[in-house]
Amino acid sequence: MIFNLKYIEKYGKKIQKYNIKKIINSDRKNYRCISMFPYPSGTLHIGHFRNYVINDVICRYKIIKGYKSFFYIGWDAFGLPAEKASIENNIIPNKWIKSNIKKMKKQIKKMNLFIHNYTINTSKYSFYKYSQKFFSIFLKKKYIYKKKGLVNWDDKDKTVLADEQVINGRGWRSKSKISKKNITMYFINVKKIKYTLYKEINNSNLPKKTLNSQINWIGKENYYYIKIKKKKVFFKNKLFFFISKVIFFPLKKKNNNKFLIRYTNKKEKIYVEYKDCERIHFCEDIEYLKKNKKINKKFIRYNKKKLIFFIKKNFLIKKKKIFKIKDWSISRQRYWGTPIPTINCKNCGTFICKKPKKLPKNLKIKKINPIYKFKKYYINCKKCKNLCNREFDTLDTFFDSSWYFLNYFSKNPIISQKKLDTYIGGSEHSILHLLYVKIFFTILKKLKITKFSNPFKKIIVHGMVLNKTIKKKKTFYEKMSKSKKNGVDPSKIINIYGSDSLRMYILFMGKIQDDIKWDEKKIIGCYRFLKKIWFFYTKININKFNKKNNYSIKKILFFYKKKKFNNIVSELMILFKKIKQFNSLKILKNFLIFLNPIAPMLSNIIWVICGFEKIFGFIYNNSL
Ligand SMILES: [Zn+2]
Repeated sequence: MIFNLKYIEKYGKKIQKYNIKKIINSDRKNYRCISMFPYPSGTLHIGHFRNYVINDVICRYKIIKGYKSFFYIGWDAFGLPAEKASIENNIIPNKWIKSNIKKMKKQIKKMNLFIHNYTINTSKYSFYKYSQKFFSIFLKKKYIYKKKGLVNWDDKDKTVLADEQVINGRGWRSKSKISKKNITMYFINVKKIKYTLYKEINNSNLPKKTLNSQINWIGKENYYYIKIKKKKVFFKNKLFFFISKVIFFPLKKKNNNKFLIRYTNKKEKIYVEYKDCERIHFCEDIEYLKKNKKINKKFIRYNKKKLIFFIKKNFLIKKKKIFKIKDWSISRQRYWGTPIPTINCKNCGTFICKKPKKLPKNLKIKKINPIYKFKKYYINCKKCKNLCNREFDTLDTFFDSSWYFLNYFSKNPIISQKKLDTYIGGSEHSILHLLYVKIFFTILKKLKITKFSNPFKKIIVHGMVLNKTIKKKKTFYEKMSKSKKNGVDPSKIINIYGSDSLRMYILFMGKIQDDIKWDEKKIIGCYRFLKKIWFFYTKININKFNKKNNYSIKKILFFYKKKKFNNIVSELMILFKKIKQFNSLKILKNFLIFLNPIAPMLSNIIWVICGFEKIFGFIYNNSL
């Protein structure tokens, strides 16, 4: 038989359809394994494919182990990119999202995943009405509050960002400089749960890198704490502006003997600055400083010991642990998001809407949020009858993504849930996303909506797929992404080498947690291996193989259990070299079963063509 990819994929898929049906209708125990949702902003690249393949292999392995498991896909569809595209291309965000989802679905279809045809789209009312319900519950129970406050303002994107979304003073998406602005917004009261959060994160099952970054966000550190007079605290990392009457400074810092401390002459105000500077500057003559306007230049050098001595002598000094994390601002001054379900009346204040509120989904954006002009947002207050309005702001999309995975397994996610078995995502996206999930579920647990504050039994954070980028005639490797224009469309590779070759290659390139460098030329090795398997199986006479079993499958099963997929591929290559000399029907069968999660199309079709279905029955009833 010739090795014809189109033929293999076509019939492999047909068999898969039949297999999916059989698994759906079985009474097996569920194994819930889900990938983080993509943003439908265009097309998928090999980086997404890596995520989905890891997910798909785990599902198929679990099926072999006797479970019911599927690959699901959902869309994190609200947010800024749709608004930007809308302004640039004069198109309605909803239409843009829809057309992108269509394109991406087409790509996913080509990947031949063990897919369950149920998708979630966070921009649909059936989904976000629950985001609104969560919001209302949190607001009622005071885990969300409204406050006028100084916020991080991204002038390029015309929006507010949470502290975690500002990286080195710039917006995480726009990369533009962030300024401060005073507006009224909703916040999640993270401070209220900070102790629980800190304890739980320290005991969580996160991969080390993600765990450390989360601990860093919360940032519990020892500080000296000086009470001068009872008053409020106000401090900032590194640069301490203590306009009030309490001084904090860090106990443990890398350069902890290097301080810069200053006292200003501004009325009763004490101003302390900490810097990684060469020497310690310190002036103890406050009276002198109070008189002197040019204090900046009037430093007297001191060492740390002297400084502490001075402070101890003059003030009451205590130690305290300080959390860096701040409350999470969830209001966004944007149109394309979950509407905040409240009504604002100038006379009577804010009310929570009794029923979830729909977003008018077909508005065009012309620089300004179109919702301000939307008539239905203006209503009469039920109490004072004056004209008031529905809240114009929408929720941060991280609010939606903090719980979307729940929606796969329950019609009503407000009612208590089961944990997911495995959750998979890329290392970059995981850091913020998982931190917000943790905050969200710590609150859900406090409210007794869930029994757990960690909704995942296991989290897999995979490395990135890097590809060549050329800048100023220099070539280097960068994360595959749309913005860097170095993304590779998996469909193109699948057209040449088939989905099985691409799956095998992506898994073979490195351990799950490692970053891998994309190199299209090297895929040929996996393609040839699959071709050899095909020719071997289609030429043999299985009746001539005897029923003995002289190969231990423990090693390969161990690698599956530990998710060492690159090792599985090399083990399969080793096993295949010896497969003739074993002369065992059982090994022929087991090899195909082991191969199935990695290269399902080929193993499906061989299973049927070679008559294994007749001898051993349905492939997934042969559990290992
Ligand atoms: Zn009113």
